[in-house]
Amino acid sequence: MNRSSIESLIPIQELDSKVNRLRSAISNLDEVSGLKDVKTQFNSLRLAYKTLKDEFGQLQARHAALEEQSKSLLVKVRNMKAQESSGAISHRDIAMTETEISKLDAQRSSLEDEELEILADMENKEAKLAELEVSLGDLSSKAKELSAKNDLEVNSMSAEMDELLKSRSELIQSVDPKLLAMYDTIQPRVGAMPVARIENSTCQGCKVRMSASEIESIKKLLSSEFSSPATCEQCGRILLV
Ligand SMILES: [Zn+2]
Repeated sequence: MNRSSIESLIPIQELDSKVNRLRSAISNLDEVSGLKDVKTQFNSLRLAYKTLKDEFGQLQARHAALEEQSKSLLVKVRNMKAQESSGAISHRDIAMTETEISKLDAQRSSLEDEELEILADMENKEAKLAELEVSLGDLSSKAKELSAKNDLEVNSMSAEMDELLKSRSELIQSVDPKLLAMYDTIQPRVGAMPVARIENSTCQGCKVRMSASEIESIKKLLSSEFSSPATCEQCGRILLV
């Protein structure tokens, strides 16, 4: 291999950078487009809605139970009054019955107070539930809209990526297989740019400074045929100068 073998890696490297940028743009799209936020808000509102709905259900059940109790007290009172007016109760017992009736009436009135409080609470919760339904609807349409937009973007970026990968597979045909294997080993470790130029006596991959004699020997190596390219001692990138 020689200098031009290494230079043949540069267009592949540029292409790989573009592919990486597209990959990361695709994986960050939900966040960048705001879809992730919308979904988080939707989930938290849905949880609030569910909790409120459960509380509303408990109030409904409590209200129904109170109504039931109140009704049965009313039946009792009516029966007592009927007995009283039928004359079946002795004079002495009438006083006791009256006391009992006013006790039951007091109980019923306290049940009714509680019922009214519960109704007010239910009304309040119902209004909040309606508000939440509107917000959930809004967030859901927003999420749908963003998803559709993101899908289009992902499709276009994927198509672009496919094109780049197709070009890559053509480009690597003309690269020395040993050098390509080296490139492929370095790439996952350093990310972008497995081939680094030396500029201002510095490896552009990791910014380590190199001595004049190091640079000279790399230049010398590159001017001839070699079996293994020069690599940066610090970052391991293939060097060009
Ligand atoms: Zn380096």
